Amino acid sequence: MSKELLKIQDLHVSVEEKEILHGVNLTIGQDETHVLMGPNGTGKSTLGYAVTGNPAYSVTSGSIVFDGEDITELPVNERAKKGIFLSFQNPLEVPGVTLSAFIRSALEQKTGRLRLWDFKKKLKETMALLNMDESYAERDLNVGFSGGEKKKAEILQMLMLEPKLAILDETDSGLDVDAVRTVSEGVRLFRERTHGSLLIITHSTRILEALHVDAAHVMEEGVIVRNGGAELVEEINEKGFGSLKED
Ligand code: ADP
Ligand code: MG
Repeated sequence: MSKELLKIQDLHVSVEEKEILHGVNLTIGQDETHVLMGPNGTGKSTLGYAVTGNPAYSVTSGSIVFDGEDITELPVNERAKKGIFLSFQNPLEVPGVTLSAFIRSALEQKTGRLRLWDFKKKLKETMALLNMDESYAERDLNVGFSGGEKKKAEILQMLMLEPKLAILDETDSGLDVDAVRTVSEGVRLFRERTHGSLLIITHSTRILEALHVDAAHVMEEGVIVRNGGAELVEEINEKGFGSLKED
C-alpha cells in the first residue's frame, strides 16, 4: 500500500446554492494514476474544482486532506503551492502573457526566484521531450492555439511545475490522435520523473488505452457509484455506463 496523498471524505459541494456533489469519498495514494469516469453532467469537473479550491464551488460538508494536511478551507494559490495542479479542457487565453512567462511565474510562486538561464534550460529540455516547437514558448498563452496545442501547453506546464497531484480534466475529449499521444506521453514522463499522482477525469476511455491505470472510479449524479481497477475501464469500454446501475 502506498502512502495516502489525497483523501476526500463525505464531500458535499454546492454551486450557487445547488448541491452538485452529495457525499464523495475518494483516496489517492502517492505515485498512483486514478481515473474518474462517468456520464456528462454528473459532477466530475466539480470535484476537480473543489479539490483545487475554485471559490465558485463551496464545500458545505466533508473534508479534503492533502499530503497529511486538511486543505478544505485553503485558498486556491496555497493549494497550488502545496502541489495540486488542474488542467482544463478549455484553458484561458491570455493575450500579452507568453507561455514561457506564464510557466515561469507559476513556478516562481512555488519555489521562489529562479535564474532565467536555469528556467530556459529546463523549459527547452521539457519542450523537446514533448516534441514541441520552441517557438510556442514565446507565443501568447493559448491565443490562437488549436485544441491539441492547448493540451500540449498544459502537459508542458505539468511537467515543469512537477505537482504532487495533477488533475487532468479531459471531459470534452475533442482531442485528435496527436494530442492523445501527447497526453499519454506527458503522463508517462510525469510519473517516471516525479512519481507524482494523477487523477484523470474523462467520459471517453480512449485516452486510457495507452496508460497504466491503478484505480478507476465511476461517478453518477454526484456520488461515486463504483470503484475498481483497470478492469472497470475495460468493462465501461465494452458495455457503457448504463450497465453499472444494476450492481
Ligand atoms: P461533469 O464534469 O461530470 O460533466 P460538471 O461537474 O461539469 O459535470 O457539472 C455537474 C453539474 O453541476 C451540472 O448540472 C452543471 O450544470 C452544474 N455546474 C457545474 N459547474 C457550474 C457552475 N459554475 N455554475 C452553475 N452550474 C454548474
Ligand atoms: Mg466536466
